[in-house]
Amino acid sequence: KPSWLSRLKAGLSKTSSSLTTLFVGAKIDDDLYDELETALLISDAGVEATQFLLNGLKKKVKEEKLTEAEQVKTALKMLLLELLRPLQKPLELGRHQPLVMMISGVNGAGKTTTIGKLAKHLQNHQQSVLLAAGDTFRAAAREQLTIWGERNNITVISQESGDPAAVAFDAVASAKARGTNVVMVDTAGRLPTQLHLMEELKKIKRVIGKGMDGAPQEILLVIDGNTGQNALAQVKAFDAALNLTGLIITKLDGTAKGGVLAAIAKSHPIPVYFIGIGEQIEDLQAFNAQEFVDALFD
Ligand code: GDP
Repeated sequence: KPSWLSRLKAGLSKTSSSLTTLFVGAKIDDDLYDELETALLISDAGVEATQFLLNGLKKKVKEEKLTEAEQVKTALKMLLLELLRPLQKPLELGRHQPLVMMISGVNGAGKTTTIGKLAKHLQNHQQSVLLAAGDTFRAAAREQLTIWGERNNITVISQESGDPAAVAFDAVASAKARGTNVVMVDTAGRLPTQLHLMEELKKIKRVIGKGMDGAPQEILLVIDGNTGQNALAQVKAFDAALNLTGLIITKLDGTAKGGVLAAIAKSHPIPVYFIGIGEQIEDLQAFNAQEFVDALFD
C-alpha cells in the first residue's frame, strides 16, 4: 500500500506534471509566464492567487537576476510555500473539557468519512470522543453513524426526529457529565435552501453556546478538494454564517488539482487542520505546507 505522501503526489500529479514540465529547457520570457498562468488557473488557484504568484515571481526574477528556468521554478516553489504556510496550524487538543467541535460541509464533501477519521485520530491521541448525530435529515446516515460508533467505542447521541440543535445540546451536556474530552457535532449538508441551511447551522452554534460558555471552540468546514473554485465560495459562505476556525480538505488523493489551497490562502485564509488522502479510516493527515509544495514540485 503506497504511503500517504505518494497518494497525495498521485492525486496532485496533473498539476505537478504541468508545473514541472513547463520549466524544462524553457527560456525566461512572456511565453513561460503565459504558460505558468494557464497552469495555475487550471490547477484551481483562481485569478487572485495566480496574479499574486506571477507578479511575485517576475519581481524575484528581476531582483535576483535569475537566468535559468530551474531557478525560476525554485523561486515559484518558495513563493507558494510562503503563501501556504499561514494555513498550517495544528488542531490543539486539551484546551477545554470537553473540546466542542462543530463539523459542517455540503453533502458529498466527505463529512461523514472525515468525522470517522478524525474520531480515530483523536482516540490515537488519547482523547475520548462523543459524537452528536446532528444530521437529522438523513436517517440512514444517523443509523450508520450509530453502528460505526458502537464498533469504535464512541458514544453517538442521536434522536429519531430531533431538532439538530437539541441533539447538539444533549451531546455537550452528556460529554460534560461523562468527562469526555472531545465532542464532535455532525451537521446537515443540504436543506431545501442554502439560506435555510445557514440559519439552522447558526442555531446549532447558538444552542451549543448556551450549553457551555465559549463552545463550540472549533467550527470546521469539510470541503472536497475537487470542487474547484466553488470551494472558495463555500469557504466564504460558511465563514460568513459561522466564523469558521478551520478547514479539512478531502480527496486530495483523487483527481484534485491542489490549487484551491492557494486560492484559499490568498483570498480567504482559514487554517487547514487536515487533508483527506483516501477513503480509509487512517487517511487523514495534518496539513503541512512544505510537504504539500514538495508533492507539487518533486
Ligand atoms: P458526506 O456526504 O459529506 O458525508 O460525504 P461522505 O463522507 O459520505 O463521502 C462521500 C464520498 O467521498 C464517499 O465515497 C467517501 O468514501 C469519499 N471520500 C471521502 N473522503 C475522501 C478522501 O479523502 N479521498 C477519497 N478518495 N475519497 C473520499
